[in-house]
Formats: sequence, C-alpha cells, structure tokens
Amino acid sequence: MAPTIPTYTLSEGCPYADPTTAQRFSDGSPIKGLMLLQDTQLIETLAHFNRERIPERVVHAHAVGAWGEFELTHDISHLTDAQFLNGIGTKSKALIRVSTVGPGAGSADTIRDVRGWALKLFTEEGNQDFVFNDIPVFFIRDPIKFPSLNRSHKRHPATNLTDSTIFWDFHNNNQEGIHALMMLFSDRGTPKSVRYVNGYSGHTYKLTKKDGSFSYVKIHFKSNQGNDTLLDAEATRLAGQDPDNHTADLWNAIQSGNFPTWTAYLQVMTPEQAESFRFNIFDMTKIWPHSEFPLVPFGKLTLSRNPGNYFADIEQAAFSPSTMVPGIAPTADPVLQARMFAYPDAARYRLGVNYQHLPCNRPVCPVYNPYQRDGFMNATDNYGSDPNYVRSSLRPIEFKGTVGANGSAAGGHQQWVSGAIGNYTSEMTDVDFVQPRAFWNLLATQEGQQEHLVSNVAGHLGSADPRLHQGALDMFARVDTELAARIKSALPQSK
Ligand code: NDP
Repeated sequence: MAPTIPTYTLSEGCPYADPTTAQRFSDGSPIKGLMLLQDTQLIETLAHFNRERIPERVVHAHAVGAWGEFELTHDISHLTDAQFLNGIGTKSKALIRVSTVGPGAGSADTIRDVRGWALKLFTEEGNQDFVFNDIPVFFIRDPIKFPSLNRSHKRHPATNLTDSTIFWDFHNNNQEGIHALMMLFSDRGTPKSVRYVNGYSGHTYKLTKKDGSFSYVKIHFKSNQGNDTLLDAEATRLAGQDPDNHTADLWNAIQSGNFPTWTAYLQVMTPEQAESFRFNIFDMTKIWPHSEFPLVPFGKLTLSRNPGNYFADIEQAAFSPSTMVPGIAPTADPVLQARMFAYPDAARYRLGVNYQHLPCNRPVCPVYNPYQRDGFMNATDNYGSDPNYVRSSLRPIEFKGTVGANGSAAGGHQQWVSGAIGNYTSEMTDVDFVQPRAFWNLLATQEGQQEHLVSNVAGHLGSADPRLHQGALDMFARVDTELAARIKSALPQSK
C-alpha cells in the first residue's frame, strides 16, 4: 500500500503553502524588501532550531541503542517475586543504550573507554532499569569521587585537550581503581562492536520474596556473539577513518535480521555468606569469583528493532538504578545509593521533571501517581480532578505490597543499620590487589593479552607528565612486580 502523503502544516496544525521561503515586501522589482515579524513560520523555524539541542549527558553522552525483548528462560521463582522473573517464557519489551563514558556526543565509537550498558525492561509491574557497564568492577567505591574521576578522564580545564597527565594523577592517588584500570587497558577496553560486549551490574543487588527472604546477587549479561575486541592500533585507525563503526555495525546487524543476543546470569550469595565473606560485598571494585559463586542462567535478551528516531528513542531515554520493580531491591553499596539519586536528577535536568511521560520512558502498565503532577511539559491529563493530596476519602486508591527499601513494594525484608557516623574513606589494603593480580594471571593464559595490556598502559602513561610515571609504576608493582617492570621498559622514554 502506498504511504499516505502528509499535508505540511505549522506546528499548531495550520496548513501552510511554502516552507522554503520567508514573507517579504515587494513592489514587483527584483530587489525584495524587509521581512515581517508576522511570518510565524520563519520565526518558529529559526527559534526552534536554536533549541534543538538538549543538555548533553555529562557522562555517557555518545551512544547507540535499539529495541528488543527479554525472555525469562529459567525458573528463579525461589529467589524473587518479580513478575517478569516468574514463569519461564515471560517476555518484556526492552530498550538498550550502549555508550562510551568520557567523550562527548558525536565522538568516535572505537575509543578506549568503559562502555555503559543500560537496559530498560517494560514489565507489567513497572519499568526495570539495569544501568550496567561492560566491565564488572568500577574505578571508585566512594561516590563523592565520581565527578573527580570523570573530569580526570575528560579534558584539561585550561587546554580543553584530553590529558593523560590528569588521568594518571587521579589514578595514582585513588588506587582503588586499579582493577578497573587493568580492564580498561586490556583489549576489552576497545571492543569490536557493542554486539560483543557484556553487561555487568557491578553493584550487588538484592532479589526479594514477599515472605521476607532475600538473596544478594550480581547480574551478568554475556554476549552470545563472544567478546571480540580490537587492537589499540586498529581502534585508533577506525576512530579516524570510520568513527561511527559501532553504530553502523549494530544498525546493520539488526536491519539484516542478524539479531544480537545476550544470556543473563546471576551470581547468588546468601545473607549469611555475605556477613562472613572475606571482603565487603558492597565494594564495587571487586568481583565475586566464579568458582565460589557460579553463574546461574535466567534469561535471554534479543535486540530486534532499530530506533525509529534516534533522538526520540535513544537520546530521550532516561535510565536509573533507582527504577526497580517489586522483587528487586538496592543494597548498602554506597555508589549504588548515590546513583539512585544522581540518575533521575540528571534526567530532570536534561529532559525536565516529567521525563517519564516521554514515549521511550513510559511504562507499559498503568501508572497512577496523583501526588506527582504539573511541572514543565506534562504530557498526560494530569490526573484530572483527582485529589492531589494523600488520604482522600473522596477518591479511594488501592495500595499493593509492602514498603521496601526503595519505597516500592520490594518485599517484607527489613535491614537495620547502626553505628557511628564518620567519613569512611577508600584506603587501600593488600586485599585490593588480589583480584587485579588474578586478572593479570588470567591474561597470561591467553596469547598476547599481557603484552597488549603492557603496551596499552605504557603508550598512555608515556604521554603523561614523567613526574607521574613512578607513582603509576609503584601502583602496578603492588599488583605484580613483573607487570610494573614490563610497563617501565615499554615506556617510550625507556626505549
Ligand atoms: P574465572 O577464571 O572463573 O573468571 C575469569 C573471567 O574473566 C572469565 O569468566 C571472563 O568473564 C573474564 N575474562 C576472560 N578473559 C578475559 C579477558 N581477556 N579480559 C577480560 N576479562 C576476561 O576466575 P574468577 O571469577 O576468579 O575471576 C578471576 C579474575 O577475572 C577476576 O579477578 C577479574 O579480574 C576477572 N573477571 C572476573 C569476572 C567475574 O565476575 N568473576 C568477570 C570478568 C573478569 P566473562 O565471561 O564475564 O567475560
């Protein structure tokens, strides 16, 4: 069927004959006169263009995204009451957004960076957001360092150049990032495409049951395409010659019906195991070893539809770790707690206070929250005449579930915390180097991987102020003295 031909109108719907020309005075001679303030079309066109850009995300600005579906493949009903995680075969509409972290929108896809891996699942009990990364650990464990971390990965305040000196100055003095740093400088820091990256919760979450029982979990989405990566030189070449390489790769794969998939896994820890575990399980600089906490499969994600419009579907998408359904709950991980504030706050700034009304963010289930109304760009009937105050006897409301840690119906579990108020800093101990050492040893089992890590670090560190070299080498020496020695001899100055 031939598509219907639309009739051009102004934004208010009034038909208008010619969008290509402005109204001007003319006496019929070739020289035309001044333009008119009454030319609504011209004024709207120019004024709207000036406002086309919304605030760019301060991190994760550059992204690619797609629509798809999540399917529960295994029974985990003993762990959670979440509706979308009950009943094998249950399917939820999904929206994914995979991003680099530091560079601005429009930068090259293949740049060495962590990838943000954000997934929104539209369930019958509301939206569930998984705002993950493509590495399982993070650079900091005290959220107040987050702005500093990101500034050190971005541009120098004076030169506006990306600057390896400020990068290493931050990391030498905030060494809890060593585990994440090693992953960043491994080949996983330059994925071949977003189809080949995993998504890791990093944070510890809770799965909860109405009976009050709960489990601690880490969540992994492993790419079924494998973990293909680029060598540093190839990533750099593509960044210049084909900067939209990852965007095109995902688009073309989906468009040709080659739908990428991920298998979702849980690592599960009981509260008793957590209490006696050898490190703080709310420290997101650490993984849970697979040998002790094996991966339990539970679902499959398939991406099957490209965005109809990038701005509408992906740029306006707002993901938050605070968006969670009953049956999933946060933990005392301080970075998670801080992100639960920071992400919705960023969305309010970027998109406005009613960002949940946008089609890409709107839940598929009924929403009834009459105490949150008005505000810029309200795109609903704003609850009509319903009472805008609590406990009205004029308009009864049903309430479900029990109040959980997230203020939602998260299950009956209570977690009591007490102790002295203090500033608990991120001081390093030898325990913090155990897992980076295990990672270094793991790379020894894969041909070329240690060499790549060494040369990637040396190349970057070598471009930093030499006064920072020794500090970085000392940090790597705490992981492994051979690693530090190899980086030192690979520094351009040593050659
Ligand atoms: P395992 O040997 O059981 O797990 C190692 C895991 O590392 C693999 O399952 C894989 O996870 C990931 N991996 C494999 N090759 C590479 C690579 N070249 N670059 C980056 N990651 C790779 O041992 P442990 O669970 O005890 O972990 C040992 C070390 O492995 C950890 O200290 C950590 O540094 C790293 N690691 C551990 C993960 C975990 O959750 N346990 C996850 C990722 C890395 P995947 O299939 O998720 O890619």
